[in-house]
Amino acid sequence: MSLITDTCSPRTMNIQTYSQEVVNLHTHSFYCGHGTGQVSEYAQAAIEQGLEVVGFTEHCPVPDSRWARTRMSYEQMSQYEEDIRQVQQQEKLAVFTAYECDYLPQYQSYYKELKENVDYLICAIHDLSFDSNREYSVFWNTLTKEDLGLYTDLYCKALQSGLFLFGAHPDVFAYNYHTWDEEAKACSKAIIECAVSEGVALEINANGLRKRKVKTAEGERYAYPLLPFWQLAGEYPLKVVTNSDAHKPVEIRADQDKTFALAEQVGLSFVSYSLQDGQIQLV
Ligand SMILES: [Zn+2]
Ligand SMILES: [Zn+2]
Repeated sequence: MSLITDTCSPRTMNIQTYSQEVVNLHTHSFYCGHGTGQVSEYAQAAIEQGLEVVGFTEHCPVPDSRWARTRMSYEQMSQYEEDIRQVQQQEKLAVFTAYECDYLPQYQSYYKELKENVDYLICAIHDLSFDSNREYSVFWNTLTKEDLGLYTDLYCKALQSGLFLFGAHPDVFAYNYHTWDEEAKACSKAIIECAVSEGVALEINANGLRKRKVKTAEGERYAYPLLPFWQLAGEYPLKVVTNSDAHKPVEIRADQDKTFALAEQVGLSFVSYSLQDGQIQLV
């Protein structure tokens, strides 16, 4: 009898669970400079397309203006967060304030403080330069084996930082590293094993499906998700999520069918989310 009472306590009744089908936690906007559309337009599109939970994860500026070509200015952050507050009172949609953070160890305390004031953070590695005046984007350069090693090292440091709900597009290196060779295998294995040991989820990202296809010796493939990466992941007890990584309102739920098909093909199943007292977590 007491068990039944516990189950019905107000505390546990507040928990809601959402499957990946109705959630998109990786969303951009005009703020980053390479996306289009207002926050309100994304929220509207989310409702129209049947989503129940949306998280805005604009590329996070840092105080020294590093990576300025691909993100809003530091001064715009409060307006971005205010725009999200304006769409948070929707009956049909839970809306979260978040950032996608490129990780470098010197920003650990900055991101930690930021995390206290938003709903969650996600990590990614888009740039491989340590010089704050020089950008070396994985999208703009052919990656060498050394670049791939550096990418992996930074990605694992991010996963180990304890700051992030999930790691975004861990296989984004495949956009400009076109061979599935020993380095690619070793680096993929290192990232996957790090995510498993840290208990952080990795993301099958649909935005790579919308980029130009890559020509390899084995034929054409998507820029990312990279099939062999996820086949390898299928051998581990890895937590996996999927997101649109929308940069236009119309993309808010785009290509979900394809990422679900990929997960099924490699034997991965997606985790769900729980929402309790305004906090979103993986379950
Ligand atoms: Zn972006
Ligand atoms: Zn993104």
